[in-house]
Amino acid sequence: METIKAPRGTKDVLGDESWKWARVLSVCGDVARDFGYSEVLLPIFEHTELFSRGIGDATDVVEKEMYTFLDKGDRSITLRPELTASMVRSYLEHDMRRAPQPVKLWSAGPMFRYERPQKGRYRQFWQADFEILGVESPMADIETIDTSMEIYRRLGLTNLKVLINSVGCPKCRPAYREALKSFIESSPGGMDSLCETCRGRLERNPLRILDCKNPSCKEMTESAPAILDSLCGECKAHFEDVGRGLSRIGADFRLDKRLVRGLDYYTKTAYEILAGELGSQNAVCGGGRYDNLAEAIGGPRVPGVGFASGIERIVITLEGQGVYLGEKPKTEAYVVTASDGLAIEASALTHELRASKIPADTDYSGRGMKAQMKHASVLGADFVCIIGDDEAASGTVSVKNMSSGEQRSFIRSETASRLLSWKEEQNR
Ligand code: ATP
Ligand code: MG
Repeated sequence: METIKAPRGTKDVLGDESWKWARVLSVCGDVARDFGYSEVLLPIFEHTELFSRGIGDATDVVEKEMYTFLDKGDRSITLRPELTASMVRSYLEHDMRRAPQPVKLWSAGPMFRYERPQKGRYRQFWQADFEILGVESPMADIETIDTSMEIYRRLGLTNLKVLINSVGCPKCRPAYREALKSFIESSPGGMDSLCETCRGRLERNPLRILDCKNPSCKEMTESAPAILDSLCGECKAHFEDVGRGLSRIGADFRLDKRLVRGLDYYTKTAYEILAGELGSQNAVCGGGRYDNLAEAIGGPRVPGVGFASGIERIVITLEGQGVYLGEKPKTEAYVVTASDGLAIEASALTHELRASKIPADTDYSGRGMKAQMKHASVLGADFVCIIGDDEAASGTVSVKNMSSGEQRSFIRSETASRLLSWKEEQNR
C-alpha cells in the first residue's frame, strides 16, 4: 500500500521550524497586549454565506478559492479563508457595540484557500489578524499599520515596504469605476490586451483589474487614472490624515495607486506590506478599512480597520534576512544513570530539575552510560547529571559541564538549586 502523504498545499511544521513560529506568535501576543487588543478564538468553519457576503462573490477568494462542503445536516459550510468576516460576525453576535468603542480584537490560526501552491502560497496557511472596530478615525488606520510594523520591528525584520492607497467610498467610487472602464475601453488594444479573467472583471469588478498580476493587464493600466484623484472630500481628508499620522510616527510608506479592494464595503485606506525575500508572493501583510462590511453581513453599520499577516511569509522573510531569533529551545541538563536499577532516581531528579525550570531529559531505553552521554550531546545538553553507583551510595550527583569538561559534586537534594547557581555563574 502506498503511504499516505499530507494533502497538496499543506505542510508539517516540524521542530526545527515550529519554535520560530512560536516566537512569531508570542511577539504577536506581546504587541497585542501592549497595543490593547484582546484575543478571540474563533471557529475554523463558518456558514458559507458569511464569506460570500463578507468577502464578496466577485472576489478570487469566494469565486475560486474556498473549501466549501455540505455537512451532515445539509448546511453549506466553509473553512475560513480569512478572519475579518468572522471577527465582525463575532462583534455583532456578542453585541460588542455596547462596550466602549473601539473594540480591538486579534486572533491567529490556520486559513484555507484552494490556490496553486508555491513558495509562500499554501492551501492551509496561518494568519495573525488584528482589527479595530467601532471607530471611523484615521488614527485607527494608522494604529493598525503601526501594530503590524511593531511586530516586524520586534522580530528584527528590515527592508519592508509599506504601500498605501485609498479605495474611496460608495459615494466617490462609482465615478472612478466609470472613469477606469472608459479608460480601458478607449485605450488602443483595449479589451484585447486584458487577460480573460480581467475581461470578465470589467463589468463586475473593474477595480480588480488594477490588481491583476498578468503583465499585459499591468501594462495596459499603467497610465490609468488614479483613484486618489476621484476621492470625495471626506475620503481625501481621511487619506491625508493617515499620511500625516504615518509620517509623524516615522513610518516609511509609499503611495501605490494600483492597490485596490474591489468591493463596496472596503472603504478608504488600503495597504500592503511587502518583503523582497518573498519573490512573487511578496506581501507579508494586507489590510485596510471596511466601514460597510458589518451591514453586508446583516448588521448595523460598524466601521472597522485591520490587517492580516501571513505567518509562513514572516518566517520565510526572517530566514531570508538571516535574522537571529535566539537559540532553538533545547535540553539543558541530561540525567545519566549507571544502571537500570537507578532509573526511578533518574526520573525523580529529572522531575525536580524541570520543576526548577531547567529544561531536562533522561534515558528511558536502558542504554549504557556511553550511549546516554552521546544522546546528551546530540540533544545539545549543557550539563550532564550523573547518578552512578558511587553517587547513589553517597547521596550525591556528579554534574559535568559539557563545554568546559569541569565536574562538580552536589548533594542529591540540592542538585537543582546548585545547578541554577552554576548556570548563573556562567552567564555572568
Ligand atoms: P496575495 O496577493 O499574495 O494572494 P492576498 O491579497 O490574497 O495575498 P490577503 O487576503 O490580504 O492576501 O491576506 C493577508 C496576508 O495573508 C497576505 O499578505 C499573506 O501574507 C498571507 N496569505 C494570503 N494568502 C496566502 C496563502 N495562500 N499562503 C500563505 N500566505 C497567504
Ligand atoms: Mg490571494
